[in-house]
Formats: sequence, structure tokens, C-alpha cells
Amino acid sequence: MRRTKVVATIGPASEDEATLREMIRAGMDVARLGLAHGTLDEAVERYRRIRRIAAEESRRVGILVDLPGPKVRSGSFGDSNVDLATGARVELRVGRGSSDASVIEVDYENLLRDMKAGDRIDIGDGRVVLKITDRGSDRLTATVVNGGVLSGRPGIHVPADRLSAPTPTSWDLKALDAFVDLGVDLVAISFVRSAHDIRRAGTDPHPQGPLLVAKIETRAAVENLAGIIEVAGAIMVARGDLGLECSIEELPHLQKSIIQKCIADGLPAITATQMLDSMITQPTPTRAEASDVANAVFDGSSALMLSGETAVGVDPVGVVRTMCRIASRADEEFDYEGWAKRLADLRMTDGSTRDSASVTDAMTMAAWRASSELGISTILAISGTGFTVRSMARFRPQARIVGLTHNPRTAQQISLSWGTVPVLVDDKGSNDEMVQQAVRVARDRELVRSGELVAVLAGADNRSRSANVLRLELVP
Ligand code: PEP
Repeated sequence: MRRTKVVATIGPASEDEATLREMIRAGMDVARLGLAHGTLDEAVERYRRIRRIAAEESRRVGILVDLPGPKVRSGSFGDSNVDLATGARVELRVGRGSSDASVIEVDYENLLRDMKAGDRIDIGDGRVVLKITDRGSDRLTATVVNGGVLSGRPGIHVPADRLSAPTPTSWDLKALDAFVDLGVDLVAISFVRSAHDIRRAGTDPHPQGPLLVAKIETRAAVENLAGIIEVAGAIMVARGDLGLECSIEELPHLQKSIIQKCIADGLPAITATQMLDSMITQPTPTRAEASDVANAVFDGSSALMLSGETAVGVDPVGVVRTMCRIASRADEEFDYEGWAKRLADLRMTDGSTRDSASVTDAMTMAAWRASSELGISTILAISGTGFTVRSMARFRPQARIVGLTHNPRTAQQISLSWGTVPVLVDDKGSNDEMVQQAVRVARDRELVRSGELVAVLAGADNRSRSANVLRLELVP
């Protein structure tokens, strides 16, 4: 069984019913709807289609809506390639008209106010790099530092410490409202700089509201990670923009440290961008990409994300299959013992308080220890909000985690949690009833076998705020 989850972005190449169905069958755990392209109505349509097909396939597929934030784009360069030569001089103006090799229109109103001479601007994920040389009253003048070819409407990366526009934007908040009304599971917030940006979403805490995913793609977010972890539900290492905000040699190390800090605190961490990039056009990945996917698993990623590969690539289903195969194989080689020992030093709490988080922290550690000492292959984690499941998953136990919940929102949200099979059950009153039901349901679904010893984590009753009972039960 694969432990590391796979998130796939849905776009023009994958939005049709047959492709979505095959992607779900191939192992897509979470479908990502990026709102940077297309209209809100189109995204809602895709959302409804995914929900319907997942239900028809009897699969629990989470839906992650990715709010674009203050995404800056150039006016169109048209369909054919426009060459910006190194050393050439270009002008940047605010507008949405067409762009060419000498004048680039930029759809960001604060451009002239935010940028100054000496600043750098990356176009098309860094394909072209400009250095601002002069700021006039109606235009910026720049020199092309790294030349390259542009077409269509490439994204423009304005350094986040220059960007005065807030995130989420007012458009994001409108889109968020629409998806909250639909009951969306997960929402990603782009260009987060501090915990404040997450709070601005203003949604109910999960599971009533969506699980909020903070995209770590600015230098400020890396510096304010501790505060962001306190308020976010999960994080994404958004390597595309982060790779423009920091030097490229820093990126692999930032990836490792961000993931480790998040997992230690029980937050799922998604590693994103260019994981199997060459498969946008090719049937097989490069050797380097296969290694990147496996290494992201070894870093402790809860989930791996496909972007253009499934949104616009030639074979979205084949990419999901390839990602699943590489991740499954890497899961087998994961250093489970080493990870849990390191985590024991990185506890969620310091045990100095006796609040519900500390109790769940200690009890999930006990479940991890019992399962590894007794060779238990399944941990049944009964959870109202998903907190117990996420706390359990951070230990990366060799045992499979079955996350049982009576809350359909929680079941959807834990689709992102490492190593967890989400299962919806009835609400039961006492610990005895909850445990009996969990064991029976897991056996009926052939997740455990008669005669097997399982670990069951639950509250003393359904009003408990923590998982304060651990039982080791023989499956009848
Ligand atoms: C990224 O920058 O890596 C990312 C995932 O963000 P987006 O694809 O929305 O630009």
C-alpha cells in the first residue's frame, strides 16, 4: 500500500470525465483546482464533476482549491515565440494590452509604486530575468539580464517583499466564499507572508471550514514559518515561486527543514512543482525527476503534487501512475525507525501542559511505540476533527493508519494525511462502542483480518477532546 499521497492539478488536459475517472483509479488522492486560469464558474463545474465521479467510483478524493493571490501576469505575447535578447532594453507598463520584445504590459496596478531601480523581475518561472534600471511616471525601464523566449501570458514574479497587494486578494475571498458554500475540503493560500494572511481567510476552523494550506513561496513565509504553522492546517512547499525568492542551492535544504518542522507539529506537508515536469511532453520522466520524487518521500512529505504534468500534459493518467509507482517504491525504503527517533526530539508539545494536544501527542507516541514493538500492522485512529490522525501520521509508523470519523468533512480532509485510509463511520457514544465499530468496519473492508492484533486510539467517549484511550485488540 502506498503511504505518500498524490495531489494532481486539474486543467484542460484532465478535466473531462473519462480522464478524471482514470486518474482517480490510478491513485489520485487529492484533486487540485488552480484558480489562476479560467473563470470561477468553470472551476465550480470541475469541482462538481470530480465530486460526482469520486462518489461513483466509491473513492474518497479530497478537493484542494488553490487561490492565486496577487498573481501578476504580462499582457499576451501572442501564440508565437518572442525572443528577449540578453542585454536588450525593455519597458514595462501597467495594462492588459499585448506585449512584445520592447514593451511588456503588466496587469498589476501597483507596479510603478512597488518597484524601484535595481530590483529584479522574473518572467515565465524565471525563463527571462530583467533588472529595473529606471522608474518613470508611467513606465519602468529594464535591461534583460537573462534572455529567453516567451509566448502567451507568462507569469511575472515581483519579489514578495516589494509586493504591496494583500493576500488573499478580494477576488480570492469571493472565490473562497463560493467554494466554502459548496463544502470544499482544502483551500491553499498563495504568497503567504505571515500568520495574518492565513487569518484573513476568515473561515471557520477545520473541519467545519476547509483545511487551510499555507503555500510557502516567499522569503517572509520561511522567516515566519513558526507563526504560520500555528494557524494553518497544512503547508505546501511551493518550489516554483520559492525558487525565485531564494537562491537555487538553498531550495533543497529549505524543502527539508520546512517539511520537518511542519510534520513535527502534525501538519501535512505537500512538496510541489516540477516533480515530473518533463512528462508534460514526454512519456517517461528523467532520472533526476524520479530521484526528486523519491527524495521528497525520504524528506517526509505527506503528499507530492503534480501541476502542469496533469493540467496540460500529454498523458495525465500516465503521470499519476508514474508518480504513484515511484512514491510506493520510495515508501518501502523510508527510514521509519530513524524518522520516529528524530521526531521524539521534535515533539508537538513539551509536555508542560496537560491540555488535549499534549494528551494526544503522548498517546499517539504510545501507539507508535506499541505498534512497532509488537509488529502491529494497522492502527485504527478514531478522530472527530482529524487531529488524532494527523498526530499519528507524523510518527510515520510502519503500520497502516485507518482514520475513522463520523464527520464527512474530516474524512475528506484526511485524504491528504500520510499513510491514512479515511473511513466514515456512525457516531457512537462510549469508547467500547466506538472501538467495537472501528474493528468491525475495518475487518468488513478487509483492512484487518480475524485474529490480528490492532491498536485502536480513541477518546474515552464521543465528547472527549483528546485521544486518551489506547487499546490493543484482537480482531474477532
Ligand atoms: C509554486 O509556485 O510552486 C506553486 C505551486 O504555485 P503556483 O503553481 O500557484 O504558482
